[in-house]
Amino acid sequence: MSNSSFSRRDFVHGAIASATLALAEPAVYGKMKLPTPASSPVIITTWEPNIPANRVAAALLERGGRALDAIEQGVRLTEADPNDTSVGYGGLPDREGIVTLDASVMDEFGNVGSVAALEGIMHPVSVARRVMEKTPHVMLVGKGALDFALANGFKRENLLTPNAKAEWSKWKKQQKPLVLPHVSKDNHDTIGMLALDKNGNLSGACSTSGWAFKLHGRVGDSPIIGAGLYVDNEVGAVTSSGLGEIVIKSVGSFLVTELMRSGKTPQQACELAIERIAKKNTHYKELQVGFVALGKNGDIGAFSLTKDFTVALYRNGEHTTFKAEYYAKS
Ligand code: ASP
Repeated sequence: MSNSSFSRRDFVHGAIASATLALAEPAVYGKMKLPTPASSPVIITTWEPNIPANRVAAALLERGGRALDAIEQGVRLTEADPNDTSVGYGGLPDREGIVTLDASVMDEFGNVGSVAALEGIMHPVSVARRVMEKTPHVMLVGKGALDFALANGFKRENLLTPNAKAEWSKWKKQQKPLVLPHVSKDNHDTIGMLALDKNGNLSGACSTSGWAFKLHGRVGDSPIIGAGLYVDNEVGAVTSSGLGEIVIKSVGSFLVTELMRSGKTPQQACELAIERIAKKNTHYKELQVGFVALGKNGDIGAFSLTKDFTVALYRNGEHTTFKAEYYAKS
């Protein structure tokens, strides 16, 4: 989707070694093995180009910072990147040419905050945190979310970059009928970040401009707690990227968390949830959903429906990336 110098597909793998991961118990589909427990802090984030966001978060965690602060600061970096066409500033707009953003946060106490269909604010993750901390609510949408952001000192900005505008004009000229486009790795790239801090506490955040050229008002999984994000400080944390509609239908992140609660490793839990989604969606081979999960002990999991879901990981003091195993092998 992006023709920028920093699109997820064009990301230079060079300096970042691919991680070989392992599991304490055998995975259902994956071959990944992770020595456990990893020493905290640990950060796992959807999509490998989010390594810079992990670096920001890791620096904070290594200084003893709280997971919630780390993930907010990390996600803000990606939100401010004009070359990232799926998150924040530079995100591709909806069918009307309007950039609308979704984001959520969840902390170690089970507190949650989210915003959906927010326009004109570069850092929806911080607005979501403000909703969590300054209101008795958990979610604000549309104009109400914008009014709240402005009243809380956030600046209104034009988020439609020349590149995103050009992509939209190109898309518009094709005059595609009003059907939902096929989802591919080229039109979905949310940042979902999970962190375990030195105190052993978990938090997570998720931020996206959602489905490129979506219907105006469409909300994906990212701001829906339990779908795009879930944190249970006793068990683990989970976030997702991909086709939000099917993640919402499966309450995906909560499902993965509950599987971990019932004794599955994060890897097994991701795989079982993806298997469930595949079974309920006959055309799953044309779709993409990826989960990343972080257990309370630093164990991780990542799995997707189809190929090319990548992950940025910080563990045992090292930044790495890897391609997740996936379900649709043939
Ligand atoms: N899950 C996001 C949504 O459906 C998009 C993505 O992950 O790229 O809005």
